[in-house]
Amino acid sequence: MDFALTEEQEAVRKLFREFADNDIRPLARDLDQNPRFPADLFRAIGKLGFFAMRYPEPEGGGADPLSYLVAVEELARGSLAVAAAASMQSLMGTFFVHRFAEGDLRARLLAPALRGDVVGTICMTEPDAGSDLFAMTTSAAQHDDTWLITGQKTWITSAPVADMFTVFARTGERELSIFLVERDAPGLTVGRSIDKMGVKASLTSEVFFDQTPATAMLGGRGDGVPSLREILDEIRLMTAALALGVAGAAFDDALAYSQERVQFGKAINRFQSIQIHLAEMRTKLAAARQLTHWAAWRAERGLENTDESAMAKLFASESALEVCERAARIMASYGYAAEYDVERYLRDVRFTLIGGGTSEILRLNIARGLTR
Ligand SMILES: Cc1cc2nc3c(=O)[nH]c(=O)nc-3n(C[C@H](O)[C@H](O)[C@H](O)COP(=O)(O)OP(=O)(O)OC[C@H]3O[C@@H](n4cnc5c(N)ncnc54)[C@H](O)[C@@H]3O)c2cc1C
Repeated sequence: MDFALTEEQEAVRKLFREFADNDIRPLARDLDQNPRFPADLFRAIGKLGFFAMRYPEPEGGGADPLSYLVAVEELARGSLAVAAAASMQSLMGTFFVHRFAEGDLRARLLAPALRGDVVGTICMTEPDAGSDLFAMTTSAAQHDDTWLITGQKTWITSAPVADMFTVFARTGERELSIFLVERDAPGLTVGRSIDKMGVKASLTSEVFFDQTPATAMLGGRGDGVPSLREILDEIRLMTAALALGVAGAAFDDALAYSQERVQFGKAINRFQSIQIHLAEMRTKLAAARQLTHWAAWRAERGLENTDESAMAKLFASESALEVCERAARIMASYGYAAEYDVERYLRDVRFTLIGGGTSEILRLNIARGLTR
């Protein structure tokens, strides 16, 4: 279904597909049923070079945008939860450290994080500030040379195991700045893990800051929103790739099942209603993949990409939900059983509708693009 992937990109797909099939997939159901941070897989993904991939060559990366997305898709084909935790590390969990940290701090945290030895995450969302970032109340105040952070974040991916937290905090009226906080900083408490519908092995928690000293400010005062804009398109494409991965797995499972399951004396894929499901699923997947790859193609050439990334994320995540839903219909009671993967895909895939901007917010952005 891929058009014009280069040999290198095909090699990336092969490498990550084999890893997902051999190492992730056998653990995926257990990780869902007994949720825990997949520490061994995380380190193994680090060894594959995934966490550094989208950074420049001197950091151990140098991959083109599409290669990175192909790797994300393949990880998500193995387990969306594992891929979500890994993607956090490869993008938002390390981006601002890479962008702004200098000297010792950079040496101490960035290289180990890109190997997977230090776990990073990003803290933006708060109980009363989700889509509306400017509603955040977490604030940072300067005392001598130190910034002290006070407030509460929630839904923070990998927080229970994170070593470093990139924290968005208010430093003035409509001024958001970015801080690095380390795990052992006084006043930092990781709260309860949130029990959620899907991506269960991608642990999410509340995080509390009580006059917590930041290790450093990342960038300057007020750099929060402009810096976030630098990676927002990429976050959306990464989420689109996550959606493609889980939907691809659902499609493969449903196709195989439809070839084997016999009712009324024939394989169910001989029934037109099942064929229509499969045809719609295949079409949606192909269209979502091309839209995502087109946006990545534009990104690589430095072309304007904001609306394209939003469209790719919106279409890929909504299509992925539909593909997983149709897979469950094809498998009927077996699509409802915990001993098959499709019911997990259907729970997991809903995450892609939220992370990177909800569908409602994306539609607003895409419509706004028409009048820019
Ligand atoms: C599994 C998971 C992991 C996450 N990991 C992280 C993380 O690591 N770090 C982090 O900071 N956050 C994280 N988040 C939080 C995520 O970014 C937020 O959930 C997301 O921004 C949406 O915010 P909200 O859930 O508060 O929804 P709200 O913003 O309250 O939205 C509620 C509803 O209102 C709609 N809505 C809101 N505003 C508008 C508008 N202007 N126009 C139309 N409709 C609107 C939304 O689309 C939605 O349907 C995670 C979330 C999940 C589920």
